[in-house]
This record gives sequence, structure tokens and C-alpha cells, in this order.
Amino acid sequence: MEGCCREGLLVNLIHYPVYTLGPGKRLGIWVQGCSIRCKGCMAPHTWEFDPKSAMSFEEIEQYLAGCDTRALTVSGGEPFDQPEGLLQLLILARKHHFEDILVYTGYTYELLAQKYPHILRHVDVLVDGPFQEGLESELIWRGSANQRMVILTEDPQMVKEYRLYARKKKDRRLQIVERGAVIHIIGIPYQKDVGAMSCEGVTK
Ligand code: SF4
Repeated sequence: MEGCCREGLLVNLIHYPVYTLGPGKRLGIWVQGCSIRCKGCMAPHTWEFDPKSAMSFEEIEQYLAGCDTRALTVSGGEPFDQPEGLLQLLILARKHHFEDILVYTGYTYELLAQKYPHILRHVDVLVDGPFQEGLESELIWRGSANQRMVILTEDPQMVKEYRLYARKKKDRRLQIVERGAVIHIIGIPYQKDVGAMSCEGVTK
């Protein structure tokens, strides 16, 4: 695991609203940089730890304060490769009353629970595990069948709702977002559908 931005977070994309990575209308933050580099990853453009993608926490806080949702999805890239930055982001999100925080990671929950329990305390739901090419998932918000939805929140209503989501089938909804010369497709497609896409980045 490597973190490499002292003053802020390396960020690939911030977008609002996001409807395809977690329930409801959400703020989406994709970090830049991933050391895991799964074969068949849909977002290799997020692998490089590019210092030019650094955002200050002041900038990030403006997004947290400026949207009318309290639901956040953090993806990437690999959020836990920037543990200090991720922790700061989550603390800021709680400060701005975000109460549904879903984080994608290529590491397993068990590893993170050993290394970063203080970060997981601020996460409500974790989708964990590396992307495994050829292991198709039929479940919503997951890219391969090994990935689990780990419910960490103790809020009984949220636990109830996410237990239902954890069993829900994929709905195939994707969002298309244009940023400059780059098209981002937001969501988790079937692996069998990805080959048919020819765009700059598929953002999980
Ligand atoms: S799927 Fe996620 S963890 Fe795996 S290489 Fe891509 S960005 Fe990294």
C-alpha cells in the first residue's frame, strides 16, 4: 500500500450526482493511484500516482458542502493506498453529516481490519476484494463474484436496507459523464459487456 500526497488527496474524478454506485443520489469521489493493478481492471487510467491530480482538502470540502445528498461513494484507483488522505476525507464527510459512506477497495476486509481499523470506523459499507477477470458477478455494484458487500454500519435501518441490496441483481444502469476530452462511464457493467465499450475510462 502506498500513499503519496501529504497535503491532500490524489483524485481522478469528483462527480455529483451519482446513481449507479450505491443506493440513491450520491456524491462520487474516485481517487487516483492503485498499486494492486488487477488483470482486466476497467479503470487502468486511475493506476498512476500522478502528483498533478492532487486536490487540497479545502477543495474537496467544497464538494462535500455543496451537494444536497448525505450519501458518498469513494472508489478509484485504490482509496486505501492513500490511507492518511482517505481518513481525512472520511472525517470531513462526517463533519458535513454524510451518513451513508460506501468505499470500494481491492484489498480484503480482513486485511484492512488489521491495518486500518481507525479508517474503517468511518465507513458504513465496504465493497472489497480485487477485480477477478472471468469471475462474473450477477450482483449489483460488484465487478467480480469474489467481491463482497461488507456492512459495517451499526445503524439498524441502514443494515436492513444494505442486506437487501447485498442480494440484489445487477440492474445494468450506467452513467456517462464527459469531462474535457474524457468520457467516464460510471457504474459496474457485466464483464461480458465491457468488451463492447470503446471509451476512455470505465469508472467503478
Ligand atoms: S479494479 Fe480497483 S483495485 Fe483492481 S486494479 Fe482496478 S482500480 Fe485497482
